Amino acid sequence: MAFHRNTLIELLEGVCKFEDEVYPKNKELFHSLAYDQSPPILFITCADSRISPSMITQTEPGELFLIRNVGNIVPAYGNMVGGVSSAIEYAVGVLKVRNIIICGHSNCGAMHALLDLNHSKLDSLPTVRQWLRNAEAAKAQFSELKAEDAGPEEVRSLTEANVLLQLTHLKTHPAVAGALARNELSIEGWYYDIKKGKVSVIDDLTGKSRPAREELEILRERKKS
Ligand SMILES: [Zn+2]
Repeated sequence: MAFHRNTLIELLEGVCKFEDEVYPKNKELFHSLAYDQSPPILFITCADSRISPSMITQTEPGELFLIRNVGNIVPAYGNMVGGVSSAIEYAVGVLKVRNIIICGHSNCGAMHALLDLNHSKLDSLPTVRQWLRNAEAAKAQFSELKAEDAGPEEVRSLTEANVLLQLTHLKTHPAVAGALARNELSIEGWYYDIKKGKVSVIDDLTGKSRPAREELEILRERKKS
């Protein structure tokens, strides 16, 4: 139990550091956020502890409305009413976010599990297995791929296919479909490589990904013209 107590001590030390050092430096920001939020972005990513959405996007409190779960999954509308669908409805319908990002990542445990949902190691994780069924269509694109043969590149391809599948599911949510039809919303998929510290943007038409820097240049050019 000492380990648990030490962890808690470290967490509370972090809280004290936040209260003593970080908060005073950002007091105005926190005061401005005290009673309202209007984040421009809904960011959907994996629950994996190695992903820090605010760090990789260099955003501040109040800028990202977050949904996190195992495998950055968005069940198709109607399949499952729960935290994901209600957060999407609220973000789009009330907060009027203008962008939705679904961000997958390297070495995702959920994607490794997706490679073989019938594996006995998932027998003790029935909820995870059922949840990952929402990503099964992504695996179907790699029907020949055996779990034991999947190297980093194959897992990356599966991860990107899953992001594209979840974007498709996202469009089945009425709030999203409506906002897209009115041109009030854009949605896109990202892939984050933890080891390299690189983000790629996945083109949902071609299925290919390109570095964030390249995407940035394209968007800047488009803005000029
Ligand atoms: Zn993950």
